[in-house]
Amino acid sequence: MRRLLLVNPVNPRRKGLTVNPAGVLPPLGLGIVAALTGGDWKVEILDEHFERFEFRPADLVGLTAFTNAAPRAYAIAEAFRRRGVPTVMGGIHASVCPEEALRHVDAVAIGEAESTWPRILEDVERGDLQPVYREDPERRTPISGARHDLFHPRYLLGAVQTARGCPMDCEFCSVTAFNGHRYRRREVDAVLDELARTPRRHLYLVDDNIYGHGSGARERALALFEGMVRRGLRKEWLCQASVNFADHDDVLAMAARAGCRMVFLGLEAEGAEALQDANKRLNLRHLGRYEEIFRKFHAHGIAVLGGFIYGMESDTPETLERRTRFIQRSGVDAVQMSVMTPLPGTRLYRRLEEQGRLLHTRYPDDWARYDMTEVVFRPARMRAEELRRAYAEGARATYAPASIGRRYLASVRATGDLTAAWWAYASNFNYLCAGTERLLQRALSTS
Ligand code: SF4
Repeated sequence: MRRLLLVNPVNPRRKGLTVNPAGVLPPLGLGIVAALTGGDWKVEILDEHFERFEFRPADLVGLTAFTNAAPRAYAIAEAFRRRGVPTVMGGIHASVCPEEALRHVDAVAIGEAESTWPRILEDVERGDLQPVYREDPERRTPISGARHDLFHPRYLLGAVQTARGCPMDCEFCSVTAFNGHRYRRREVDAVLDELARTPRRHLYLVDDNIYGHGSGARERALALFEGMVRRGLRKEWLCQASVNFADHDDVLAMAARAGCRMVFLGLEAEGAEALQDANKRLNLRHLGRYEEIFRKFHAHGIAVLGGFIYGMESDTPETLERRTRFIQRSGVDAVQMSVMTPLPGTRLYRRLEEQGRLLHTRYPDDWARYDMTEVVFRPARMRAEELRRAYAEGARATYAPASIGRRYLASVRATGDLTAAWWAYASNFNYLCAGTERLLQRALSTS
């Protein structure tokens, strides 16, 4: 039996959102690759969230990486190549930077694994691995479930995906570069079967918008949540959604019955100009209603984790101070603050590159800086140091232990649900651990 080793590399700088294993998710893409691999292969996942890479024998190595971990993926791949083991890299970074990846691995899978991986395995078995495997975006294959038994047992949350793709066109977002603009749903029964198979009681439903898009979204979301209740899955989960999820009271009620305890909303900013900068159209339509939206989730015992971005095109030190103040008084339960990061493959990256505004371009090494907490471009209306400082000061106000404690008590009162409030507290605590204090120190020492 041949051995397939799948590697989840971690940025050795271990900064930003990857610093704390309690706040990270299992490598779902590798679990899907494992599920697509036939029985003649023994599959193993080496996960650097829990064990540092050391060479081990394999007949084939597959790697995936987000952009900030790409240099680490290349270093690991080269260790295998030196010993003659074929290496294949897929995932979002390799898909948008295939020429770069090919300098470090034997083959690159561009696009979703469902359409490329079976072809790769066939070629490996024939001893005829090609350098590039490209998905045809017009003929995407159905979304597969994952092998959850291979994920490291120390992950607190399982991960399941019910749909892919997004018809929106936010300038900074890499989802559409990888999964496309067409929104594609999995069969509800296939999702429910996978949820039932997942050993974890606590889950992250990683869709970008669990409510969905287009006609039939409401019915599909209801069918999914009703199915979870009917099958008695007894999972507790958080999910991601757009702000319009709050407009559907009956769906929210059913989500809560099915175990939804927290929802991540990509709010990004509280002002119209910043949202226009990023083309965040859905949020613009709900502008001025964020507090009301939070209350709607709270009424169903669901906490809100709000994502805010520092460094929109129109941002200045003053607008960022306003953003920080808004976060404190908004009633949001947990906060994910990130620095605007031009990920490769996005329209934002192309624009900033054309304008000569990228600050760190010694690739691939500088990709390690693209971790959502470092300023890697020259902002339009302030100096990079000012953005760094505004972000660090926002993080200090948001994640100060007293602030986290206050927010926890407010969540208990607002949601009436101790689990939801605890999840929000744990999220805030993870982000506190994610190095924001060190960022503050650095910002203050350089100012
Ligand atoms: S940020 Fe969200 S809404 Fe915007 S394109 Fe990406 S997935 Fe879609």
